[in-house]
Amino acid sequence: MSTNTLKVGVIGVGSLGQWHARIYSELPSAQLVGVFDTNPARAAEIAARYGTRPYPTMEALAADITAASVVVPTHRHFEVASTLLSHNAHLLLEKPIAASTTEAEQLVALAQSKNLILQVGHVERFNPVMRYLESILKQPRFIEAHRLAPYPPAREGAAPRGTEVSVVLDLMIHDLEVILHLVQSEVNHIHAVGVPILSRSEDIANVRLCFANGCVANITASRISPEPLRKIRIFQEDAYISLDYKNQAGEIYRKGLLGIKKEAVPIEKDEPLLSELRSFVECVATHATPRIGGREASRALALAVAIVQRLREGPS
Ligand code: NAD
Repeated sequence: MSTNTLKVGVIGVGSLGQWHARIYSELPSAQLVGVFDTNPARAAEIAARYGTRPYPTMEALAADITAASVVVPTHRHFEVASTLLSHNAHLLLEKPIAASTTEAEQLVALAQSKNLILQVGHVERFNPVMRYLESILKQPRFIEAHRLAPYPPAREGAAPRGTEVSVVLDLMIHDLEVILHLVQSEVNHIHAVGVPILSRSEDIANVRLCFANGCVANITASRISPEPLRKIRIFQEDAYISLDYKNQAGEIYRKGLLGIKKEAVPIEKDEPLLSELRSFVECVATHATPRIGGREASRALALAVAIVQRLREGPS
């Protein structure tokens, strides 16, 4: 093993954390030192699959690593991330950064005071669709985003995955972060509606955001859809761009002399989670600023929390 490889661990190796473990085990720039999960059988299974060690405690793993991915349920982000930061670990913390804005602010402050990298897992920013969009984006005037997923399966002793928080914090947060990044303007007005169907919090929500620069975004997120779908459509003065995150494909419509011209967008497909983790390892190695750090993630969370508050107030 080269001395330049980053010693990493994964905390929480459930549905998503197993893929963090797989990618670190394959990345030449990283050494997967071990995994920790409050479910020891799951930790042992994933450690065996990727040729690493299951650790008995998070603190024991923290002592052996320089950096970690935190892939535990959202309501556990704060306790796990703050413990690891206190042990001087650089973090890739899954989205949303935390369950509340107070917790998010405390994590950002702790990472900053210790000069540690805090990257947040807003993985769509590493989707090749976004790279294309950033290259042709001018001033978006209207954005429409849809993010639909089937209801997660029931499981014993725990709520279905993700349902410990509203669909706004679980799924819509991806689009909120992307749209704040694309529009670069303050949100002046929020109009939101949301309904709990199968869980205790909203399972489907729609929001219309009006930005100070005049842009309007209409966003729908659902975790009770029969088919998964993740799309964004952007209207700007010279073009209409329609992109599909899931299939990494899309079209662009431009005004030509003979009418509207439709072209397929040139996208080179890749694995967004791999790009995200590679970028995290590089940021730690070079102490570069992550593409989506604690501040960007906290801004998206603050907007998500404001949306939940607004939709729970009911029609105004
Ligand atoms: P999951 O329930 O499948 O897995 C969570 C794992 O964490 C479980 O194995 C559980 O035993 C373990 N765990 C719980 N508390 C723990 C603790 N205190 N310490 C160590 N392990 C603990 O959930 P998931 O779907 O993998 O989601 C995990 C996180 O990943 C959530 O924050 C979720 O929002 C995020 N997520 C992000 C994306 C994305 O697109 N970026 C996709 C899915 C999930």
